[in-house]
This record gives sequence, structure tokens and C-alpha cells, in this order.
Amino acid sequence: MATISLSQLTHRYANGHVGLHDIDLAVAEGEFVALVGPSGSGKTTLLRTIAGFLRPSSGTICIGERTVVSDDEGAWIPPEHRRLGMVFQDHAVWPHLTVQDNVAYPLRRARCPRRDITARVDAVISQVGLSDYARRKPGQLSGGQRQRVALARAIVARPQALLLDEALSALDEPLRARLRREIKRLTREENLTTVHVTHDRAEALALADRLVVLDRGGIVQIGTPHELLTQPNSSFVASFLADASVFSGVVSGGRFYPEHPYFRPPATTTWVSDGVHDGSTHHAIATVAPEDVRLRRLDPSVAPPEDHATVVSVLRGQYGVEVSIDWAGTTARVYQRSTDLSEADLVQVDLAAARLFVGISARHGAETGAR
Ligand code: ADP
Ligand code: MG
Repeated sequence: MATISLSQLTHRYANGHVGLHDIDLAVAEGEFVALVGPSGSGKTTLLRTIAGFLRPSSGTICIGERTVVSDDEGAWIPPEHRRLGMVFQDHAVWPHLTVQDNVAYPLRRARCPRRDITARVDAVISQVGLSDYARRKPGQLSGGQRQRVALARAIVARPQALLLDEALSALDEPLRARLRREIKRLTREENLTTVHVTHDRAEALALADRLVVLDRGGIVQIGTPHELLTQPNSSFVASFLADASVFSGVVSGGRFYPEHPYFRPPATTTWVSDGVHDGSTHHAIATVAPEDVRLRRLDPSVAPPEDHATVVSVLRGQYGVEVSIDWAGTTARVYQRSTDLSEADLVQVDLAAARLFVGISARHGAETGAR
């Protein structure tokens, strides 16, 4: 297994579109990193650049000891020599080959001795739970099984790192959750350095040692799931990862003046700012995580107070209830373990905690740097 380090990676597409800018990232040996971000944020571009399918406009990529691309030294190692395993969303397995032959393919191409191939292929097929299907062709397998074949083929040659692009996204639950757990176990067992692209925040939070949040081709924040959930560096990360509600306004003379008529930052609000507070006026954005909003149902027979909110939807899930409210035109998400609220109920809103980003653009790092 190997480290992957990216430095000052920038990619401009032929049409002038900036796919990536100023990416600095070091993935440790055996680390599982998830790239997350909205559609078009550069996740696939970044993964394809690491894989070698795209040559970046500038910057350096090292995999292990080797520089695989750099603009100063003109180094370029093509994808087939980077020793990476890859799995994409559409299980790209060969339909005319059996599971065994699909998985053996990378070893045959590398001209490994026949005996070694058989032993290694059997071991990997068993690791992904397909021993009973080794002689079948992909057409006789389910989507999840085909994706396991792709995974086995990606790791059979003991790659330096595993790259996954939406590898689980085409699968249905509960299969998807199961394969998620298996990928986690497998990458741990093999101490595989893994970069996993997903638009699914829950999946990224569940699998990754660290998350890299991308937006508009730049890195907004890097951290462990816990760090990103508890200490987002911007309102973008708070709302993207944790569904936090957002309240804009200004800070002046050490006080927050929201545009929202009823939002009041609770005493427990954490102030986050880039620099010195000089008492002058700054743009500021408050975020409130869904678990920090408390709702109290108002008696429908009494006229509601002006600052009331209205329940828009109540979605019951496996781990709790997600209530959406409309609070003077702002939609807020609220998590509760259980609730007796229903649609159209009027509620009183109480905030237990908030983060206030002062003088920090919504997207923090993503808007700075070369664009
Ligand atoms: P993601 O995988 O996060 O959805 P992509 O990496 O596919 O995002 O795309 C990042 C940005 O680069 C997007 O704005 C996209 O429109 C643009 N882009 C992607 N591929 C190309 C291409 N071949 N030519 C021009 N622009 C592209
Ligand atoms: Mg993509």
C-alpha cells in the first residue's frame, strides 16, 4: 500500500472550464478517504487525475515513492503503470468471462505464474463472498454480485491504492449497506489506501477515516467525520454534511443582526471567524444543526405568537424522525427521536446551539485561490 499526495493540482478542461484548482491533499498509507461534494464539484475529475485518465494542467501527484505526474520535471506515468485498483458505478466486468476469469485478468496480463494466479484468485473471490459463483458469467449474477466481481478484480493484483467512483451508488438497499460494510472490512484487512468518491453523505461518513469536501473544484474542508460534523469551517459544510439551517446577517459591534425576523443566536453559540474582530461590520452566517432545534406544539385554540413556525413535513426513518418547518420563510430541518407532530401543526422554535461564521464566505476555501 502507498501514500497518495497531491500538491497544487489544477485542471482546466479544453473548454476553459476549471475542473479542479489548487488541490493539496495527502492520503496516508492504509487510509480511507471519501471525496464528497455536490454534483459538478470536481470529485470525478480529481479521481480520474489520480488514476491517470486525465493529465492535470499543473501540479504534482506522488503515489508511494513515485512521482506519477509533475509539471516541473515533466514526469508522466500512464494509468496502466500506476498500479491502482479501480471500481466505477457501472460494474465494468467482461460479460463473456466467468467470475474467475474476470478476476484473474489483471494477473494474466501481468504474466504471473499460473499456480500463483489460481491461489490468489480463489482467495480474493472468497474474500468478496463469491466462492459459490466463481464459474458463473456476469449475466447470471445480481447487480451487487457483479459489483463484487469488479471489486475483486480491482484488488487482486495488490494495487498500491483503491479508487472507487460511486461504486455503490447503483445498488439498492439493503445490499448497498452490506457491501458498504464489506468494503470497510476488506480495505482494513488489506490495509488498502482508498479514495472513495460518493455523493452520498451518509456513506462517506460511515466509511471514511477522513472526508474531503469539494465545491467548485476546490477543497472546502478536510477532516474526520466527527470534526466535520462538530466543527464545520463554513456554512456550506454545515448545511451540506449535516443539513444545518442557515441564517444570514451581519455582525456589528460584537452583535449578530440576522435578516430573519425571529432568529436569535442562543447563548451557547460558537463564534467562528478568520481574523481579528475590530468591531466593524462583517457579513455573518449562523447555522443550526437539526439536532439543536427544539419544537413545542402550540395550542391550536389560542392565537399563535408572531414568531411561530409551521410543520411542513414529518418523515419517520429507521433512526428517528426528520421534521421540516417553515419559520418565517426559512426552511429548517429538525431531528427528533420520536414525535407527535404532524403536518400543518404550529410550533414554537427553541435553539439549543448554533455556529456563527463571521466574515467567512459560505464556501470558505472553495472561492479563494486561482479560478
Ligand atoms: P462531480 O464528479 O463532482 O460531479 P466532475 O468532476 O464530473 O464533478 O465535474 C467537475 C466540473 O468539471 C463540472 O463543472 C463539469 O461540468 C466540468 N467537466 C467535467 N468533465 C468535463 C469535460 N470533459 N469538459 C469540460 N468540463 C467538464
Ligand atoms: Mg462524478
